[in-house]
Amino acid sequence: MFTNIKCPKCERANNFVSEVVEVRDYNFKLSAIKCGSCNTVVSFLEYYNNGALLQKIIKFLKIR
Ligand SMILES: [Zn+2]
Repeated sequence: MFTNIKCPKCERANNFVSEVVEVRDYNFKLSAIKCGSCNTVVSFLEYYNNGALLQKIIKFLKIR
C-alpha cells in the first residue's frame, strides 16, 4: 500500500528522486530528496545508511 505523497510546490504525486550533495561547512555527504518535476528539495538524508551499516556489523559479529 502506497500513500500519495505530493510535492509541496507543484503538487505532482510520487515523483521524487535523490541526488548526492555536498554542503559547505558540513563534513559529510547528504542525499537531497527532490521533486522529479520541479527540483524542489523536500528532505535531506544522510548519504550513508547507518541502519544498514549496523545490520552488517551485527551480522559480522554474530551478536543477534
Ligand atoms: Zn514539484
